[in-house]
Amino acid sequence: MHYRGRFAPSPSGALHFGSLVAAVGSFVRARAEGGAWLVRMEDIDPPREIPGAASDILATLGAFGMRADEPVVYQSLRDTAYDRAFARLRDADLVFPCWCSRVDLEASAGIHRGACRAAPDTTRGPAWRLRAPDVDVSFIDLLQGTQAQNLRRDVGDFVIRRVEGWFAYQLAVVVDDADAAITEVVRGSDLLDSTPRQIHLQQLLGLQTPAYLHLPVVLDADGRKLSKADHARPVDRCEPLAALRMAIDFLGLEVGAGVTPAALLERAIDSFSVARLRGANGAHVGTAECET
Ligand code: GLU
Repeated sequence: MHYRGRFAPSPSGALHFGSLVAAVGSFVRARAEGGAWLVRMEDIDPPREIPGAASDILATLGAFGMRADEPVVYQSLRDTAYDRAFARLRDADLVFPCWCSRVDLEASAGIHRGACRAAPDTTRGPAWRLRAPDVDVSFIDLLQGTQAQNLRRDVGDFVIRRVEGWFAYQLAVVVDDADAAITEVVRGSDLLDSTPRQIHLQQLLGLQTPAYLHLPVVLDADGRKLSKADHARPVDRCEPLAALRMAIDFLGLEVGAGVTPAALLERAIDSFSVARLRGANGAHVGTAECET
């Protein structure tokens, strides 16, 4: 099958170094495989979005030499597809309405234990949760090795549609990756523990499971993941070379002497192999610091 990869930023702020690493990793991998690289804007969480961030991210990717091979997909325009998947799960009685409050969930360490079943607060709309079965979902990550999670024990019944009516990331990502015929998901290892939920949803919906390759995440000096929510400093699209070199180096690939983003990416593509990625061969994952 022809390789199809993707980068799926959330427009909750400008592109920062951590997301640049995920963008470069997915782009270089797709090109090294002679495949297509797509971009999907994950704009289904309005409270966390910043106006203008989506176009800003796309402009930054362009300045770093990365342009999607197909039109950018916006999750905010894909409710019909999510609704179809949701209806299918509901018709199969795999989901249930949940009125649990934040306090209920905190009392059970964030895992749904059915507190709302005793006294549903029907004065407000429910969230919809997928029943988590008592099964171990396992997969082989191309970089992180074998992963396994028991959905009921480790995650619990999880939200696929939020109280406000928005579809949750776990459902949207599965529908979108399948509709775009993504063959391999390359993203940060902060999403490693979402993957079993996504594989389970793929199985319920009769969708193909892509291959997975989770890259090490960039941590700040205090050992926390850089995230837009914490106002990690955006990369400067007027000066892409230094940050691009640093991202390629962080991934463990060869940083050439190129003086354009395209030339730097070309060298990284030529030098690409999963075995030389940072985090391969059991190296400790996710402890690098970044000065940006
Ligand atoms: N939108 C997610 C993020 O920005 C990435 C989702 C994914 O790659 O599956 O962290």
